[in-house]
Amino acid sequence: MTTPSYTGRFAPTPSGHLHFGSLVAALASYLDARSVGGRWLLRMEDLDPPREMPGAQAAILDALERYGFEWDGELNRQSERHEAYAQVLDRLFSQGLAYACTCSRKQLEGYNGIYPGFCRNAGHSMENAAIRLRVPELEYEFKDRVQGEFRQHLGREVGDFVIRRRDGLYAYQLAVVLDDAWQGVTDIVRGADLLDSTPRQLYLQELLGLSQPRYLHVPLIVQPDGHKLGKSYRSPPLTADQATPLLLRALRSLGQNTEDSLEHASPREVLDWGITHWNADLIPHTLTLAEAQLR
Ligand code: GLU
Ligand code: ZN
Repeated sequence: MTTPSYTGRFAPTPSGHLHFGSLVAALASYLDARSVGGRWLLRMEDLDPPREMPGAQAAILDALERYGFEWDGELNRQSERHEAYAQVLDRLFSQGLAYACTCSRKQLEGYNGIYPGFCRNAGHSMENAAIRLRVPELEYEFKDRVQGEFRQHLGREVGDFVIRRRDGLYAYQLAVVLDDAWQGVTDIVRGADLLDSTPRQLYLQELLGLSQPRYLHVPLIVQPDGHKLGKSYRSPPLTADQATPLLLRALRSLGQNTEDSLEHASPREVLDWGITHWNADLIPHTLTLAEAQLR
């Protein structure tokens, strides 16, 4: 068996239905993988049961299928990976690279989300405490394929961050790094809202001796007034009858020059056209794109 040189993935969180912004991210990662004959995996990031919307997992899979997406292998769920996360967490803790934090929300007010380090040397036990990773006083940088150079000083701009919450739930930052490595992901294509999570993930990869994937952050689709898409603003639902026009809109928002004849194509035919014509250099080099500009 040969190791494919490209493995991509789409990793939705089932806190709600897919919206147009998720479609843009899914489409970009799918086309970027398939245009070079790469693998494309699907991972359900169901780390947070209290915030999961009942039925969302099934609705996400259904929408992806109706829009013509085909993924390789079995769907993976983070809810089935707790043992792997726990092992790494225990190791980081016993090595002193992570520590237990018992600070209340109130104690942390007024620090702009940057942990002031109160529990760094307190030696609390893991029980009934959040677990934080010590970060180095260093700047991490990488070159994003669309957004260019991105740098962040972990100590000054992020601080020691939570890898397991006090209620026992594992944090996205830890799970995503372990799963991408476990699944052999070489290329991460996702929304630009995660650009500033990347240096934390680079640090975890370095700490755990994992290889660093390539990154491509696509513009985040925002409301016409510039706010994030959310429940209060109705982004077009990913209904089956709108598959072709919404896929075409998503392609155009990724800067691809669609052809008029595609309006009568099936979703699968639009994806196949996208695979053949994909050019990541055309993606707008911006962090956000307002939905209204796409019409
Ligand atoms: N689960 C994350 C989200 O839905 C995406 C994680 C990632 O692509 O790294 O925003
Ligand atoms: Zn603390």
